[in-house]
Amino acid sequence: MNEQLITEPRVISRSGAPLNLSKENIEQLYLGLLVIQPSPFCNINCDYCYLPDRTNTTRMDFDVLRKTMDRVFDSGMVGPPVTLLWHAGEPLAVPIKWYAEAFEIINSYPNADKLIVHSFQTNGTLVNDQWCDFINEHGIEVGISIDGPEHVHDHHRKTRKGEGTFEKTMRGLEILQRNKVPHGVVSVVSDISVDNPDEIYDFYRENNITGVGLNIEEVEGANESSSLDDIGGEDRIYRFLKQFYLRNKADGYPLRVREFDAARQNILEPGWSHTPDGTYYNLEADPLGMINVDCFGNFSSFSPELLGQPTEKYGTFNFGNVLKQSLFDATKNDAFKQVLADIESGNRKCAESCEFWQYCGGSSPSNKYYENGTFDSTETRQCRATVQMPLRIVLDDMEDELGITQKVSPVTDRPEGAAV
Ligand code: SF4
Repeated sequence: MNEQLITEPRVISRSGAPLNLSKENIEQLYLGLLVIQPSPFCNINCDYCYLPDRTNTTRMDFDVLRKTMDRVFDSGMVGPPVTLLWHAGEPLAVPIKWYAEAFEIINSYPNADKLIVHSFQTNGTLVNDQWCDFINEHGIEVGISIDGPEHVHDHHRKTRKGEGTFEKTMRGLEILQRNKVPHGVVSVVSDISVDNPDEIYDFYRENNITGVGLNIEEVEGANESSSLDDIGGEDRIYRFLKQFYLRNKADGYPLRVREFDAARQNILEPGWSHTPDGTYYNLEADPLGMINVDCFGNFSSFSPELLGQPTEKYGTFNFGNVLKQSLFDATKNDAFKQVLADIESGNRKCAESCEFWQYCGGSSPSNKYYENGTFDSTETRQCRATVQMPLRIVLDDMEDELGITQKVSPVTDRPEGAAV
């Protein structure tokens, strides 16, 4: 790394203090997530998918992959392990032999086996025993997308012919379980499931699923509207989450639920995701905290959902191409500077106006952009559903257990220096 970076002072969200990015202080940046798109292609066609180019079967060239890894390891931003998420198309639609060569390339970098944690986010329909052998051999983390029982799952997750994918996805889940592949499930909560938390909860329990993430259907990228737009108020989302939480509690918490785990950790371990100065560390809003690379080598930062999306204000969210530019070159890109300035302005407004700021850090820039039309904004349905509601539900429950009848705000009523 031998280049001088941005020379003009600016503010980054984690500290709120002016920071002059240069090669001397670049180590303050940290790459936490690297998303690589081996191919934009997906073998199915969910109607809420945000990917615009999912019929394109182009596959990443190994020269592009090598250059990507050169850029990553040359950046000086790899310290604690980086999660490499193979995504943005169906990763298992690319053959195992491609990954065998890709992993050989990646593992040729010093300590890559310790510094890189691989992860697949898959629709599960292509899982077989050979995949499981490969996954187990390389210790790859797996997230599988299942929305719930058949009529729920197939409502949105269909093939291009309009057929349901439930059967194939459940076969994939069974193969993962039979091969003892550790996995979590990601479910989109949409119009078809929001009123049926018991049915969704029972489905997980009946199918030996132990870890879930609940994504409230979002307006994002090619998904220009959400089936939840018409549900008439967010109290139904709250009721879903609350009932789900209570069922899990009544059973002794057999399910790890990402949103409630994060809320509990925020309450019990304030500082677990904070920087030394005490501000919440939000990887998605941090410059170069996430790097997203498409199969052609174009890359962006911030929310992965933004990569390659066309916009009027910023053009497409491409800040460079690994074949020509280093990751730091992105920081000189006008679109990058504008996006960062807008994200930080929105986050400053969050910090001034929202009692959840210390537990959130501004949440997801892509949701601000797609819901509010600008990064320079605050609340979204996504942040209410994934940050605010889970925190309220867990905190209310803790207070009830402690016999606290006068409810306090998680932040504004907090004694100086206290956890909650
Ligand atoms: S919960 Fe929403 S409004 Fe509050 S800080 Fe987070 S993103 Fe901003």
